[in-house]
Amino acid sequence: MRPYAWGSRTAISELLGRPTPAPHPEAELWMGAHPGDPSVLEGFGSDGTVTLADAVDRDPEAMLGSAVAAKFGARLPFLLKVLAAAEPLSLQAHPSPAQAAHGFELEERLGVPLDSPDRNYKDSWHKPELVCALTEFHALCGFRDPAVTVELLTELAVPQLDHYLSLLSGQPDRDGVRALFSSIVTVPASLLDPLLAAVLQACVARVRAGSRFAAEYRTALELGERYPGDPGVLASLLLNRVTLQPGQALYLDAGNLHAYLEGVGVEIMANSDNVLRGGLTPKHVDVPELMRVLDFTAGDVPVLGGDAGPDGELVYTTPVPEFRLSRLELSDRPYRLDHDGPQILLVTEGTAELVAADGAALTVPRGRSVWVPAADRGVTVHGTGVAYRAMDGLAP
Ligand SMILES: [Zn+2]
Repeated sequence: MRPYAWGSRTAISELLGRPTPAPHPEAELWMGAHPGDPSVLEGFGSDGTVTLADAVDRDPEAMLGSAVAAKFGARLPFLLKVLAAAEPLSLQAHPSPAQAAHGFELEERLGVPLDSPDRNYKDSWHKPELVCALTEFHALCGFRDPAVTVELLTELAVPQLDHYLSLLSGQPDRDGVRALFSSIVTVPASLLDPLLAAVLQACVARVRAGSRFAAEYRTALELGERYPGDPGVLASLLLNRVTLQPGQALYLDAGNLHAYLEGVGVEIMANSDNVLRGGLTPKHVDVPELMRVLDFTAGDVPVLGGDAGPDGELVYTTPVPEFRLSRLELSDRPYRLDHDGPQILLVTEGTAELVAADGAALTVPRGRSVWVPAADRGVTVHGTGVAYRAMDGLAP
C-alpha cells in the first residue's frame, strides 16, 4: 500500500472490505514484483513471507514461463495497481525505451543516487500505462486539437494571454503546441502570478456564462486552488479533459502528457518507476527533461471500451509486449485462465472461485488478488461479479 497524499481514505479500504475512512490517505494498492513494494504471496513457501519478487527470482521459468523469461529476464514485466485519486496527481509523462535506457545510464554515470529526490530515471525501462475506470474517472490526457485550444483560449479574452495564444494560432500544429507549452511552463515567476490570476478570473466568468468549455475551465480553477502559482494550471488548459465511465480505459504511450484528476481505477503498466513531472506536485520537477520526452502530437484521445475476446472476456488492446489487461464478468460457467505466462487476477466486485487442475479450490473475495504462475495450467475461475485479469502482452 502506498500512502501518497493524494489518495482517497475510502476507496481502497472499501474495496478490501476494511473499515472506512482509513486513518491515512490510500493512493495505490500495488500487485506485482516491483522492488519498491512487492506483493507477499500467502500460502507460498513454508513461512508465508515470500514476496512475488523472490518467487520470480527463484524460479523464473515456472513463474513467468519460458517466453517471458527469455524476453524480460527474471523479472515480472508488468505492475498492476488499484489507483484511488481523491485529489489530482502530478502532470507527468513517461519515457520511451530508448529515452529510459539513455537517461538511466546518464544519471548512473553522473552518480545521482537512486533514492535522490532529484533522480528522474529509477530504472532503464519504459513505462507505458493503461488505466481502466472502476468509478467515473477524470483525467487530463494528451494535447488537445490545436484549433480547439485556440478557441478555448480566445474565449477567455485575457489580453496578457495574447502573446502565448499567437504562438499556437500562427502555427496550429505540433510545433505550435510545443512552442506554447514550453513558454507556458517557463513563464518567469514575476509574470506568472498576474497571468494566472487573470486567466482564472476569466475561467470563473466563462463557467458562469455556461461555456462549452466549462468543464475544462472548472478543472483549471480546481487545480489553481490546489496548486497556486503552478504553471501546470495553465498547461492543463492545453490538454484533453477526459471522463471515463466504469469499464472504459485510456492507454498512455511514451511521451503522453497526463494527470489523473479523480476517481478509482485499475492501472497496469510496464514494471518501471520512470516519471517525468511538469507541475501540479510538490515532487521533483524537471522541465527540460520532460520537454525531451514529450510527444506534442495533438488531437482526441481514444477511449477504449474493450474488445470482445473469447468467452465474454473484454480485452483492452494495446501494442505493449509487457502487459495485457482484460475484464471478466464472472458467472457459474468456469472460465479457463489458460496462458503460458504470468497472470494476476484481481476481484473488484463479488467473489471469485478458482479451481486448480488437481481440484484444489480457492475463494477470492472482492479487493483481493491471486497470482497464477505460468506453470499452473488448467486453472478455472467462476463466481459472481467482476475480475480484472493481468498478464504479459506477448503473443499467446
Ligand atoms: Zn503516468
